[in-house]
Amino acid sequence: MANDTKVATGGAVEDDTAAAVDRNALTLEVDAGGTAWLTFDRPDSRANILTSGVMQRLDALLGEVEAGAQAGHIKALVITSAKPGMFIAGANIDEIAGITDPAEGEAGSRRGQAVFSRLDRLQLFTVAAVDGVCLGGGTELILACDYRIATDAPATKIGLPEIQLGIIPGFGGTTRLPRLVGLTAALPLILTGKTVTASKAYRMGLVDERVHPAILRERVRALLAEVAAGRRPQARKRPLLERITGSSLARGFVLSQARKQVLKETKGHYPAPLAALETLTRTESLPLDRALEEEARTLGRLVVTPVSKNLIHVFRLMEAAKKPVTPASPRDVAKVGVVGAGVMGGGIAQLLAYRGYAVRLKDIQSAALGHGLKTARELFDKVVKRGRLHRREAERMMAAISPTLDYSGFGTAELVIEAVVERMEVKKAVLRELEGQVTSGCVLTSNTSALSVTEMQGALERPEDFCGMHFFNPVNRMPLVEIVRGEQTSDEAIATVWAVTRKLDKTPVLVQDGPGFLVNRILAPYMNEAGWLLVDGASVESIDRALVAFGMPMGPMRLLDEVGLDVAHHVSGILHQAFGARMAPAPALEKLPATKRLGRKGGLGFYTYEGSREKAPDASMYAALGLPATRRDIPREVIQERCILVMINEAARVLEEGIVRGAGDVDLGLITGTGFPPFRGGLMRYADSLGAASVLEKLERYARDLGERFEPAPLVRARAAEGASFYGARPKRPVATVG
Ligand code: NAD
Repeated sequence: MANDTKVATGGAVEDDTAAAVDRNALTLEVDAGGTAWLTFDRPDSRANILTSGVMQRLDALLGEVEAGAQAGHIKALVITSAKPGMFIAGANIDEIAGITDPAEGEAGSRRGQAVFSRLDRLQLFTVAAVDGVCLGGGTELILACDYRIATDAPATKIGLPEIQLGIIPGFGGTTRLPRLVGLTAALPLILTGKTVTASKAYRMGLVDERVHPAILRERVRALLAEVAAGRRPQARKRPLLERITGSSLARGFVLSQARKQVLKETKGHYPAPLAALETLTRTESLPLDRALEEEARTLGRLVVTPVSKNLIHVFRLMEAAKKPVTPASPRDVAKVGVVGAGVMGGGIAQLLAYRGYAVRLKDIQSAALGHGLKTARELFDKVVKRGRLHRREAERMMAAISPTLDYSGFGTAELVIEAVVERMEVKKAVLRELEGQVTSGCVLTSNTSALSVTEMQGALERPEDFCGMHFFNPVNRMPLVEIVRGEQTSDEAIATVWAVTRKLDKTPVLVQDGPGFLVNRILAPYMNEAGWLLVDGASVESIDRALVAFGMPMGPMRLLDEVGLDVAHHVSGILHQAFGARMAPAPALEKLPATKRLGRKGGLGFYTYEGSREKAPDASMYAALGLPATRRDIPREVIQERCILVMINEAARVLEEGIVRGAGDVDLGLITGTGFPPFRGGLMRYADSLGAASVLEKLERYARDLGERFEPAPLVRARAAEGASFYGARPKRPVATVG
C-alpha cells in the first residue's frame, strides 16, 4: 500500500525455511510522511496466518515502530494486507492442536496478548485497514488499534471463531471486544463464532468506517492527513441499547440469560462458551491487564480439553473435504436439469438457483411442479426474512428455475439430477429417456437413497457419465452430499459433481456404491437397535433421552418419525436383503407397516403431532407394535452403548470394504449427515477414544448376551489385535480413491 520513498526496514529474506516464511509474512515500510505501513503478505499462501513466528516478527516490527515514534520520525501506523480479500485468517491451528499442557496454552496466550498490548500502547495513531477475511487473531489485532476501516466487499468477514474450536479468543479478544462494542453486541460473536459483514461491524461499532475496496487506501491517507492536521476522529457513540445495558445490574442479567441460552443449545456438552461467560463475569470490572490474565488462564484450561481437540479434528476434516478427490478436471456447469419436483427435487432446484445455476425442473404432473416451485419460493422467503438475500435477488433467482412437463431445455444442461420416486424400474426408464435428451458431455446423477448406482449404469449407454448425488432431507439444512461412484463412473464425472457440490456450499463425501452407501448404512443398525431396546422393554422417551444425552441432535425414535416410518421400513428391508441376519429388523419394527403410521408427515408415529408440532410420545404405539405397555428401566449407559456400538461395528465393515477412503470420511459423513456430535470428533474418533480392544470386548459381550448382530467386524478384531486405531486403518480396496 505504501508508496513514496521507502525509508526503512523489513526487507525480504530469501530462504525457504518455515522461519523465513514467517519472517517474510509481514513487512514494514515507512513513507516520507512518517507513516509506517505494516503489511501482511505470507509468501506462497492464500491466507495470512498468525503463527508464533509471525507474532515474533510482528513484535519486533512494533518495537521498531515504537523506537521510530520515540525518535519522532514515525507519526502513524497502518496495518494492512497485500492480499485482496484476505486480511488475517487467524492463528495457526496446528500450533493450537499441539498444546497439551494448560501452562503452555496460558503462556502462548500471554505472548500473543503481549504483542497486541504493545500495539495498543503505541504512542501514535494506529489504523487497521481491512479488506476480506479477518478472523480470530486478525480481529484481536484490529481491536488493539485506535481506528478500524473495513471494506464492504463481500469477502470481508470479521469475527472470532475460536469457540468453534472449543477455546475462547485468547489474544485479548474476549476482553477487548466487549469493552469496545458492549457486552450485548460482543456476546454473539464470542459465544457462537459467527462472523459479521463490514456493515454489521460498522453498526455495532466494531469498525469505525466501511468503504469500497477501491478507495480503502485513499481513505486511509485522507484520515492520516486529518489526524496530522490535529483532527483525530471522534470515538463512535455506542448504540443506544448498549448504553442502556451498560449498568452492572443489566450486564449481570445479560450474562445469566446468555448462560441459559448456551445451556439450552449445547446441553452442557461444550465447555468453552460457559467458560467464556464465567470469564466475562469475573473480569467485567477488572482493569485491562488483570482481565487479560484471566482470559489467558481460561484459554490454557480450555485448549487442552478433549472437546477442543475433537473440534479441531472436525475442523481439519472439513478443510480436507474442500480438496478435490480426483486429479481429473471438472466440466463447466452453468445449467442443471432436475427431474422430479417432489420433496427433494424442489429443495435441490432452490439450492441450485440460490448458488447461481440456471435450473430446468421437470415432473410428470403439473401439480407436482407447482408444489416444487412453492417449496423453492418458501425457501427463498426464509433466506430473505433472515436478511441474507435481498427480495429482488431472490426473485431473480426464483426466475432462474423454469418448470417443464417435457424434456425441452434439457439439451443444454451440463448436469442432471434425477429425484423421482425410489423405484429401480422408474429410475432406469427415466435415465434412459434422459440420455436421449441431453448432449454427450452432460453428467447424469441420481439422488437415490438406497438403490444401486451400478445397476442403474446398466441402463445407460454412457455409464461413465453417471454417479449418485445423494442429498439429505431437508436439502437447505443438511450439509452432506454423498457422491456415489458406480463401477463404471469416470473421474471426470466425479470431479464435475464434486465441483458443483462445493459450489452449492455442501460437504461432499465420495463413497463407493453399496447398499445404503455410507450414512444410511451406518444409521440403519442404530435405529434398529432402538427397535430392539423397545422389545427389551425400554420406553420411547428413555431411548431418545439417552441418545440426546450422548450428544445426538435427536434420538432414534424421533429420527424414525422424521425420516418417515414407511421410508425407514423400506430402506431397512433393502439393507436386510443385502447384509443378511445382522440387519434383520427388530420384531417391533417389522410391524411398522401394520400400524399404518407414517411418522411426522402423517401426524402420528412414535410421537403424536399437532400440525407440524410434536406433542408427546404415543403410548398406544406399544400395543400397535405388539409390545406390552409396561416399560422397564434400562440404564442410560446401556442404551447409549448398544446404539453406538452397532454403528461403530458397521462403520468398521464400511472401512474394510473400502466404501470410503478412511475413518475421516466416516466421521465427516456422520457429522454432516446425521448431526453426530462434533464434540466427540466423529464416530470413529470416538471409537478410537475407547480403543479398539475395548470396543471388541464390549461387542463380544453383547454378541454373547444379545445375538449375532453384535458379532465384531473383522476390522475391529484386527485393530484390537494390533493395538491400532481405526484412524490408522487403510481400506483393503481403496476404490473410492482415484489417481
Ligand atoms: P417424492 O415422491 O416427494 O417426489 C418424487 C417426484 O417425482 C414426484 O413429484 C413425481 O411426480 C415425480 N416423478 C415420478 N416419476 C417421474 C418421471 N418419470 N419423470 C419426472 N418426474 C417423475 O420423492 P422424494 O422424497 O423427493 O424422493 C425423490 C428421490 O430422492 C428418491 O429417490 C428418494 O429415495 C431420494 N431421497 C429422498 C429423501 C427424503 O427424505 N425424502 C432423502 C434423500 C434422498
